[in-house]
Amino acid sequence: MFQDVYDVIVVGGGHAGSEAAAAAANMGSKTLLVTMSLQNIAQMSCNPAMGGIAKGQIVREIDALGGYSGIVSDKTAIQFRMLNKSKGPAMWSPRVQSDRMRFAEEWRLMLEQTPNLDFYQEMVSGVVIENGKIVGIKTSLGLTIKAKSVVLTNGTFLNGMIHIGDKNFGGGRAGEGASFGITEDLVKVGFESGRMKTGTPPRVDGRSLDYSKMIEQPGDENPDKFSYLDITKPLTHQRSCHMTYTSEAVHDVLREGFDRSPMFNGRIKSLGPRYCPSIEDKINRFADKDRHQLFVEPEGWNTVEVYVNGFSTSLPEDVQFKAMRSVAGFENVKFFRPGYAIEYDYFPPTQLKHTLETKLVEGLYFAGQINGTTGYEEAASQGLMAGINAHLKVNEKAPFILKRNEAYIGVLIDDLITKGTEEPYRMFTSRAEYRTLLRQDNADFRLTQLSYEIGLAKENRLIRMEKKRDESDAFVTFFKETSVTKDEANPILEEKGSSLMTQSDKMFKVFSRPQIDLEDILKFDKVKQYVAEKGLDREVIEQAEVQVKYSGYIDKEKNNADKLNRLEDVKIPENFDFDKIKSISMEAREKLKKIRPVTISQASRISGVSPSDVSVLLIHMGR
Ligand code: FAD
Repeated sequence: MFQDVYDVIVVGGGHAGSEAAAAAANMGSKTLLVTMSLQNIAQMSCNPAMGGIAKGQIVREIDALGGYSGIVSDKTAIQFRMLNKSKGPAMWSPRVQSDRMRFAEEWRLMLEQTPNLDFYQEMVSGVVIENGKIVGIKTSLGLTIKAKSVVLTNGTFLNGMIHIGDKNFGGGRAGEGASFGITEDLVKVGFESGRMKTGTPPRVDGRSLDYSKMIEQPGDENPDKFSYLDITKPLTHQRSCHMTYTSEAVHDVLREGFDRSPMFNGRIKSLGPRYCPSIEDKINRFADKDRHQLFVEPEGWNTVEVYVNGFSTSLPEDVQFKAMRSVAGFENVKFFRPGYAIEYDYFPPTQLKHTLETKLVEGLYFAGQINGTTGYEEAASQGLMAGINAHLKVNEKAPFILKRNEAYIGVLIDDLITKGTEEPYRMFTSRAEYRTLLRQDNADFRLTQLSYEIGLAKENRLIRMEKKRDESDAFVTFFKETSVTKDEANPILEEKGSSLMTQSDKMFKVFSRPQIDLEDILKFDKVKQYVAEKGLDREVIEQAEVQVKYSGYIDKEKNNADKLNRLEDVKIPENFDFDKIKSISMEAREKLKKIRPVTISQASRISGVSPSDVSVLLIHMGR
């Protein structure tokens, strides 16, 4: 029925599991994806959308590395928006509204076309560990399947408990059973586990809504896309979202249900995502706000089902329904599904190495929500990295680790394993100290070559990246070398309220002026001619624009990152005895012993390790 021994078994076909399976199999590992429901591959448990602030950058990174999330998102998008376009390019964040059913279907299609990948639908009930090494998995039917490495991506399913008002029942997601056995097996061998919580809003019938009372939110006029590859195309038509608000009347109805709320009556004890609170949490915490924004999001091209973003709740379903009927445009609303909250087990991620392999059991990897994160993008990126590293380890190759100045994925994993997380962790641009370097437009420059070298990104991806890089570099050089006369420039400068030139100057300098944007620069005959001659496309032109306009910031961050990398190069030996350093604080010693940082730079990011502790460590490492 199965291969004797798989190189990699991936448990769970959510966002993390799907990327992990694709990466390992594409790199050549004999891979098995075991999941509880093959109908629900990469199911979007919550909102039908990919990307957004900082998350959109992650999807671009996954794509640049050769993962599937970007391609699937493009193929199943119903709307595209570049968020934060009014801010600097470090903040630009692509986001798509997705067709939920098509998204899962496209993922499954892509996985089925992936070589080296077998599928099996069943619940995994335990892991088989011998002498501190993973050797396989056990299933609920009593099968044992052997593997050299196992990636666990169980999401919200481990001992999952669903709450709606005062009712609760076991489940991993609405309509799907919980998973039992794995947590218990892992705790037995010494893993620490915890509980977290998340929630989701009701889904409603779009035919019952009055959109004339809402504000329309159309997609971008010139939509972009996620994948760097030309196999996907920007949308030619899109569906709109809508916006409406709750009111005091809505809040009053919701408050009526507070005594039956599992959040407030102590039934739910675990922590939920702070930045994605339930509606009852919002009206409780921000009691002075008389309304909250709701986004009304279509679930696909061919469905009337609608997702009500901002109305996540675990109040009793009758209260949810009554409150929603008081929202403008929702007076006649019909429910498809009520909102609910879910509690599940996770494993504090400080138990992992940078490769996402566990410190305790060799060959065992954790990725996704099981590590205390929240979000499809966070999960998918961890899955990709775990799949890559499981493959590399099986083949006795060096691990693949991304640094904090190379990728949001690097920031995410380093944060998780160095700092741990007490509440569901989501990515923000503010978590990245080098966000001017980690832009959505240059993920291919940062990562494709690295991925090609380890055998994941294919040659076509590399060639495309190199062409874009060469063309944009040459365009920047053109700006540096080409002069414009004051007569050419002044009419444009005057129109933009910029001070006039008294003599000719380099284009680079003119373009660097804050008032001057791409559209102005494209008005210069010399630029028009260059673009036409070279046949430059929009992506290359915009890339050059970012490099010219933000060159000062980019250079400064590169310098800072180089300094950090010098500390990154100072390794701490694996079995270093922190007890022998007397002059560091007690707290630092305990944390260092628990986290076991591999470099001085990582040690410096552990909370409780002060700059003076770092200086002492440096001396001990001979620096
Ligand atoms: P999942 O997508 O949960 O996938 C896990 C997969 O593993 C499933 O396919 C499951 O069948 C399979 N599986 C589990 N156990 C076993 C087993 N023992 N054997 C075989 N297969 C198994 N994210 C946000 O960013 N914001 C939100 O507001 C938000 N709200 C959420 C609300 C709810 C109710 C839920 C359920 C999730 C929510 N999420 C939210 C989280 C988001 O869905 C996850 O972050 C993301 O899906 C995690 O991906 P994953 O691959 O780790 O796990």
